Amino acid sequence: MKAVKIVGQEKIEVVETPVPEVGPNDALVRLKATALCRSDLYRYHGTTCFDDDSANTNFTPGHEPCGIVEKVGDKVTNVKPGDRVGLFMFVGCGECEYCLRGDEMLCKQFGCIGFQRDGAHADYIVLPGANCLKIPDEMSFVAASLLTDVGGGLYTACRNLDVKGGKYVVIVGAGPMGCGGVMMAKAFGGKVIIVDVDSGRLDFARGIGADYAINPKEEDVEKRVLEITHGRGADIAIECTGNEVGANTALNVVRPLGRVGIIGENSSCTFDPSAQVIHKRLTILGCWVFNKNDWGEIVDFVLENNVPIEKLATHKYGIEDAEEAYRVFDSHGAQKVVFVWDE
Ligand SMILES: [Zn+2]
Ligand SMILES: [Zn+2]
Repeated sequence: MKAVKIVGQEKIEVVETPVPEVGPNDALVRLKATALCRSDLYRYHGTTCFDDDSANTNFTPGHEPCGIVEKVGDKVTNVKPGDRVGLFMFVGCGECEYCLRGDEMLCKQFGCIGFQRDGAHADYIVLPGANCLKIPDEMSFVAASLLTDVGGGLYTACRNLDVKGGKYVVIVGAGPMGCGGVMMAKAFGGKVIIVDVDSGRLDFARGIGADYAINPKEEDVEKRVLEITHGRGADIAIECTGNEVGANTALNVVRPLGRVGIIGENSSCTFDPSAQVIHKRLTILGCWVFNKNDWGEIVDFVLENNVPIEKLATHKYGIEDAEEAYRVFDSHGAQKVVFVWDE
């Protein structure tokens, strides 16, 4: 089978490698669509995403996959060969309180495909059967792939932040996470204000449903949000940039008693807890992907509300063109880049 390897800084190779063995609790999945993610680019640039993955340069990247179950181990009962599945990226011990509730990313023995074990920029992947999440026939593989991280994550963020009809939601950052947030917040009934310094990305966000767009290079964001919200401030803000300015914008545009979701990964940020959080009595939520047991709810929501998640896939490639796919994605010339395999 073919698999992508990151062999050096900004160096990608597609290699031939044996199809992995299937253990008693595992499933072998033939991949049909696997998206690239900003976090795949950490190792591409020679840096790390998780603290312990710096030495793992030999692992195949890719953690946003879906495909068809090809083979299962003796002990797997939840899926069978031929099932169409999305794959949950986190693998835990399977026994602790977090694993049992479907939050494997909180397990002490947590590992993520594409980082601590082989990922899905390859023809096949082996994962515990429990990581296989069924997808209905009416959902495309590309759509399902986009739900395994951005879609599921932003659905969960919007639900947990209580986005609903009549609420003003500011989304900071119009990359894939932010635009996934625009789609989900609109489907929940929110009035969506997108903020980004890139006018092309603002146009894209408008095209998928954002009600208002603000470019901080041209306008004062806080002032404009106050105008739009009739002097009140936004009810909810979702920070998707991963930078300090974005995080501060999110804290500043919400009204007292507002809610802020933090999604953009960021290792340091300065803000004023008294003025920006305590004296506004804000609720801040850390939003990291989604609980595995919410998969069915996420899929139903997307189908019932016709969430156009597939529009995020602005570029598609075969795995043999991985080098170009990574280069285009790295250049910010795309929203989501997705590897696809023919039927
Ligand atoms: Zn991702
Ligand atoms: Zn565990």
